[in-house]
Amino acid sequence: MMIPEFDHPTFRLAVAQFDQAAEAMDLHPDLRERLKTPQRALTVSLPIRMDDGTVKVFIGYRVQHDSARGPSKGGIRYHQDINLGEIAALAMWMTWKTALVGVPYGGAKGGVKVNASTLSMRELERLTRRYAAEIFPLIGPDKDIPATDIGTNSQVMAWIMDTYSQQVGYAVPGAVTGKPLSIGGSLGREEATGRGVVNVTLEAMRHLGIELDKTSVVVQGFGNVGSHTARIMHEVGAKVIGVSDFSGGLYNPHGLDIPRLLQHTQHGLPVTESRLGEVITNEELLTLDCTVLIPAAISEQITKHNASNLRCRILTEAANGPTTIEADDILRDRGIFIIPDILANSGGVIVSYFEWVQDVQRFFWKEEDIRQRLREIITTAFHRTLLFAQAKKTTMRMAALMHGINQVAQAHTVRGLYP
Ligand code: NAD
Repeated sequence: MMIPEFDHPTFRLAVAQFDQAAEAMDLHPDLRERLKTPQRALTVSLPIRMDDGTVKVFIGYRVQHDSARGPSKGGIRYHQDINLGEIAALAMWMTWKTALVGVPYGGAKGGVKVNASTLSMRELERLTRRYAAEIFPLIGPDKDIPATDIGTNSQVMAWIMDTYSQQVGYAVPGAVTGKPLSIGGSLGREEATGRGVVNVTLEAMRHLGIELDKTSVVVQGFGNVGSHTARIMHEVGAKVIGVSDFSGGLYNPHGLDIPRLLQHTQHGLPVTESRLGEVITNEELLTLDCTVLIPAAISEQITKHNASNLRCRILTEAANGPTTIEADDILRDRGIFIIPDILANSGGVIVSYFEWVQDVQRFFWKEEDIRQRLREIITTAFHRTLLFAQAKKTTMRMAALMHGINQVAQAHTVRGLYP
């Protein structure tokens, strides 16, 4: 049964995926009910003095889906369209993701309903600090650790870390991840999600016998995840033929000059103004003929309306929830190899875990150690998922979900039910 408080298309998608996996693994009905329902959800109002002297009230959320395996962990999203149900869905995916890759966290997510690009830096800082103060009772290095997501960056994390530290009276770097290096951030965190996306894509290519120098890549979204993914794909020798952002797509069949494109976008300019390729629509981008398609923007981009037109061999889901349930069925029937989101984008939470461990221990690692440990954890998770999918004759998505859910179910079973 859908809990009305969380009803939203993305929450419905997360629950439908969970139901499919729970059915396939014959999960006990009591556990199904518990795992479908987020543990805690907080809605806060954020009155902010704008630069013109008026006061505007924004709405913020923090949802902790499950903390059976450890403190909950999840990003903070600043976007004008978010609501409680979408944040709850993203929190649920975090629970399965952390369990799948074996980092000792539960799942959480937060967000503020705002178009951050319309705020000045001062307004953004006031909004962030008020949000951090309002969710203060829920967060902390042993309770729930926020990180970056769509619309937030390392500066936003620094303000949250500072607000948290002001409340307790001393510096608590482990309160958030994705921070600047100067206050306890980790080397390699900013690129981590993109690097993980590349690691698992290369493993899938090896599995399918696809050669790197014959590989063409298309990336939807050119923010943190999309731009690092495109850069590292380019660095390892693949041809990135298409990218996009909110302004539309950019296409060059001979391969885009990614270093020049990055120089262009680092000033905040849209990819479509770079003159480095032909401007196309986002819809055209998704249906380009390519080896690997990497959605790295927002959810529900591949639907029953365009799934039949995709022309990739591998779909690496860098974004959370980019594929609807109906599209998933179409892609499976067409034999497209899907690396599901909870596996593909887990590099972010893996290196966030490294950041938190370094903060707690006050002992910092070299970048090559971080890259190597990330590759080790994410490729192990990839092969475990692949073996499980082959053994159970199921899809990579179902295998990843079933493994993650099983870890969480085991934690609940041994901990028992309080009181
Ligand atoms: P971001 O805000 O840095 O970038 C988002 C990008 O998507 C921007 O280039 C934006 O222009 C583009 N975009 C937005 N709407 C679009 C649309 N309709 N069509 C095409 N492009 C569009 O965000 P991010 O941190 O890169 O996150 C991207 C995705 O990856 C999200 O789904 C997020 O949840 C997921 N993710 C991020 C991390 C992380 O570490 N940042 C970790 C795991 C998963």
